Amino acid sequence: MEESKFSVLAIDRLRMTTDGNGVTTLICGMGCPLRCRFCINPGSWDGSVGGKLFTKEELYEAVKIDSLYYLTTGGGLMFGGGEPLLQSEFLADFMEKYKPLGWNFFLESSLNVPRKHLDDVIPYIDEYLIDTKDMDRERYVKYTGGDYDRFYENLLYLKEKVGEEKIVVRVPTIPFLHQSGEEARQNGEKLKELGFSRLDFLTYTNPESRKDISKKARENLELLAKRTRET
Ligand code: SF4
Repeated sequence: MEESKFSVLAIDRLRMTTDGNGVTTLICGMGCPLRCRFCINPGSWDGSVGGKLFTKEELYEAVKIDSLYYLTTGGGLMFGGGEPLLQSEFLADFMEKYKPLGWNFFLESSLNVPRKHLDDVIPYIDEYLIDTKDMDRERYVKYTGGDYDRFYENLLYLKEKVGEEKIVVRVPTIPFLHQSGEEARQNGEKLKELGFSRLDFLTYTNPESRKDISKKARENLELLAKRTRET
């Protein structure tokens, strides 16, 4: 049987404090089930770039140079995307094989995937960074085009399985979608009521100020701006 491969959009070395966990290497996987209007990595899904395929050994070779940093700072590998859970079987195999090295494994995910993908990686992930986008169903769908219930149920499931102390939840203020900081405050309150205490409030960069967004992401932005004006 042919060995499975991980499709990578980008690898970013020597991240310090970005993920809050020592020195990490961010590995961005291709593919995403969502279509966020201000997507930071549209290349993962809009077809504008192709992913580079890595076997487990090739991925290890690409990141091992920083092993000493991971071990001495409590860092390791951060799997992000796109949505890395779309390639969960590979990730589980990779982490099972390399967990004995003592590196930490972190996952950045929007959790909008079938439950099985989450179950695949839970035994190996040390900490989670969850992109909640919005805790209001209507705004969530408007912004991501995704299934709110799937995200919400996976969020509660993850907390039950691993404990909230292992989960950092991002609570963004999103230009155009949010009229003030009030929406993020309400989202934070809702998350606290659900039992989450590690909240990371942030404000998305207005993508109109970015020069590098793709044609598809630009269309998304214009669509969101139009929908927001209509409501
Ligand atoms: S979750 Fe949203 S922002 Fe992240 S890659 Fe997918 S579409 Fe882009």
